[in-house]
Amino acid sequence: MRLQDLGEFAFIERVSRLVHCERDDVVLGIGDDCALILSPSGDTLAVTTDAVVEGVHFRLDWLTPYEIGARAMTACLSDTAAMGAEPAFAFSSVALPPEMEVKEAEEMLRGLVGQAERFGACLLGGDTVASSNQIILDVMLIGRCRSQIWRRDSASAGEVVAVTGALGGCGAAIAARRAGWTDIPTWHRYAQPTPRVTQAALLSEVGAISACIDISDGLVQDAGHLCQRSGVGIIIEADRVPVSDEAEAIAATLKLDALTWALTGGEEFELLFTAPETAISSLQAAADIPVTVIGRVTVGDHVEVSGMDGWRLAGLWSGWNHFAVR
Ligand code: ADP
Ligand code: MG
Repeated sequence: MRLQDLGEFAFIERVSRLVHCERDDVVLGIGDDCALILSPSGDTLAVTTDAVVEGVHFRLDWLTPYEIGARAMTACLSDTAAMGAEPAFAFSSVALPPEMEVKEAEEMLRGLVGQAERFGACLLGGDTVASSNQIILDVMLIGRCRSQIWRRDSASAGEVVAVTGALGGCGAAIAARRAGWTDIPTWHRYAQPTPRVTQAALLSEVGAISACIDISDGLVQDAGHLCQRSGVGIIIEADRVPVSDEAEAIAATLKLDALTWALTGGEEFELLFTAPETAISSLQAAADIPVTVIGRVTVGDHVEVSGMDGWRLAGLWSGWNHFAVR
């Protein structure tokens, strides 16, 4: 069997079965946005790592070297935000082709460091190696957990499901670029995404979130991971999903569907969370960006999207899977 037959998530499942960890300072291992470990002083640390590969995650003709570095750090910052943690210590391993211009390589690292520092984290180390042709960036980030830790496995039936921000802009940007557009109103959503670190800090003050995940692989797919880990179902009401006006406008011009981008598009870096319905108004008041209730947690084991017509639903279950045949 090949990896493309097994799929990314089934492979990760196999990896997790190889692990027999019995350390009592490990709170949570494989399976969430971050691992959780106890420091000797009793603090909980959230640790994540994310790799990006030229040709898979980015193209040199679409992004500047600065943006490539910043986005690599953003993926990790988004994972610590999804645990409600505060970013602190970063490490970056880079594999670079020897013929790459020093100026460009330095600019990439400038983006990576700049994004870390913008959100309060420091780059403390890493590794630099030669690559045969593609650029690979592998970032690790350690965050400090706050009193409440948002895991994927603690949603309960009866709670509501909410999402930060407005979706679809990233999918719209990619579609417009593929269609040959140059001046794309949502391009920043793709090229300079903002991890919801500030919002995680504001939302955690309320203390009401039960479970959280970032939607870097697409809203429906990541909601599915939350279902799986929590042992619940989720019903998303399609007409409540916040789609950005700019994404709608791009979709109208291209005769494409903005809601599909919002439901399945990756790299949005918004947060999807569950909370008791009574806490939603406090959470909305605390956040400095829109927080929208899009559905509810049910007794069940999978995600359903209600209010979609058949053909759109059929094409919907294709979030990001690294080994999928494209
Ligand atoms: P995210 O999209 O939040 O970064 P992923 O979907 O990449 O999460 O990974 C899901 C879980 O599997 C995470 O806990 C991650 O740490 C773990 N994981 C993925 N690949 C590996 C691997 N090669 N070895 C160990 N753990 C892995
Ligand atoms: Mg994540």
